[in-house]
Amino acid sequence: MELRTTKHTRPDEMGFYGEYGGAFVPELLRPNIEELEKFYLQVKDTPSFKEEYITLLKDYVGRPTPLYYSEKLSIKHSCSIYLKREDLNHTGAHKINNALGQILLAKKMGKTTVVAETGAGQHGVATATASALMNLKCIVYMGEIDIERQAPNVQRMKFLGAEVIPAKSGSKTLKDATNEAIRYWINHPDAYYLIGSVVGPHPYPMIVTDFQSIISEEMRIQLLEKTGNELPTKVIACVGGGSNAAGAFYHFYEEETVELIAVEAAGKGLKSGASAATSMLGSQGVIHGSMTLLMQNAHGQIIEPYSISAGLDYPGIGPLHAHSIKEGRTKATSVTDEEALFAARELTKTEGIIPALESAHALAALDKIELFKSDIVVVNLSGRGDKDMATYKQYF
Ligand SMILES: *Cc1c(COP(=O)(O)O)cnc(C)c1O
Repeated sequence: MELRTTKHTRPDEMGFYGEYGGAFVPELLRPNIEELEKFYLQVKDTPSFKEEYITLLKDYVGRPTPLYYSEKLSIKHSCSIYLKREDLNHTGAHKINNALGQILLAKKMGKTTVVAETGAGQHGVATATASALMNLKCIVYMGEIDIERQAPNVQRMKFLGAEVIPAKSGSKTLKDATNEAIRYWINHPDAYYLIGSVVGPHPYPMIVTDFQSIISEEMRIQLLEKTGNELPTKVIACVGGGSNAAGAFYHFYEEETVELIAVEAAGKGLKSGASAATSMLGSQGVIHGSMTLLMQNAHGQIIEPYSISAGLDYPGIGPLHAHSIKEGRTKATSVTDEEALFAARELTKTEGIIPALESAHALAALDKIELFKSDIVVVNLSGRGDKDMATYKQYF
């Protein structure tokens, strides 16, 4: 991990990216997040921590993940399109990059229990996997609806030894699972809370971004090998909380020629009332310990998000993205359920790669943005679609 320090990517001392971020937590949790930040800043650059983490990424996760030139998509869009194959990571998505980094922290901090929330189940699976590897007790909160639509991941977590607890409040999805995981943490401050995206109170957005930044670090090396230039013209990633996007964008923030495109889930349409396009429909407020953009009504009550993809229906967005979108550095666009399903079908048929529904949103954005012949586009294929087969089967 060689991290570039830039105004876009690093929060200030209070954990703010511009006006977004910070740590809005109950007093009871303040010592926890302060201890975590102190510990993280102490160990992150030590040779032993870096070596342990990088070795795990290489030998356990299978990194570097390939940068695949998609001839079919390139022909269709008349430019060069590469897929960053995060779907080929152990456990099938980018989430493991972060889960392993944080589990190393937990282990070194002497923690014995890890608590996490999960939407699509990919973060739960990654956390359960990392916990099994490090022999830590693992508790995962998951919305009752997500438990239904992501059954294979629930089985995997249980087989890995995790306890999966259904979140039964609200929309019974990720937001509610997060609330309950935080509640567990308040009642068990000795547990390590392992957040799966670039959300939550400082220092989590910073830590998760750092661990995911390996994605763009590899992209630069791979692009140089394949094109003779480290820089693409566009990087596209889907955004739930924003961790795969933060990782895919990180090492390009300061390169002004590189367009960064964040793709949100429009669900049934931006104006349908069933959407999760937070940066477009949201306004400033505090959610899960962080000041950011979130979908709320005039009374500050959270509007239940909706997307066909369980990993994207979160009513907030990481503060780093809120800041970067507001500044105009990152461009946000949105893709509907239907468009994502079509893109998933297309990649499966033409390239023999079944993408996760989340990643299919990033792919579908290719049809919505202006592309030029000279474009070199990297689409971050955040995960594989095995977990979504039940949904795909319903539609095709
Ligand atoms: C969880 C997940 C996402 C969304 O989370 P981010 O933090 O926004 O990256 C996207 N793709 C896949 C495959 C996921 O599992």
